[in-house]
Amino acid sequence: MSTPNGSHVIGKDALGRGVRDLSLIPWLGMDRKDIEWYPSIDYDKCATCGICFITFGRRVFDFEKQAGKVYVANPYNCMVACQTCANLCPTGAISFPETSYIKTLVARNKVVKKAFEIIKPLLSHNNLDESEVETNPEP
Ligand code: SF4
Repeated sequence: MSTPNGSHVIGKDALGRGVRDLSLIPWLGMDRKDIEWYPSIDYDKCATCGICFITFGRRVFDFEKQAGKVYVANPYNCMVACQTCANLCPTGAISFPETSYIKTLVARNKVVKKAFEIIKPLLSHNNLDESEVETNPEP
């Protein structure tokens, strides 16, 4: 089944919830699969609490019944720059690339300017100087 954003249901997760392939949806003009942003799990730290698997609708995580562990099933379903699962993980088992990776990606691809162009028609007044719509890749 196709959704309004064009993604298709590609299967079900361990709880029977629908899984869509969000990797086909470009991120501000970039192929999502060209962006190496997704979580990694350190199984030495993971307590199998399930929060990462249960909480997020993008179905990045799934549960391997036989092994009894969560895993990153659909890495490119991950929202670019989001680290909420890492913030929620009670044991610090989830990690992401350095934030500088995202800042460089945003700067090189003029992502802020692209976002600003999209939202501009919604603004009643422009309180942002377009010449300032750039991102410094330095943290
Ligand atoms: S939230 Fe952290 S501890 Fe809980 S299952 Fe996920 S990775 Fe493991």
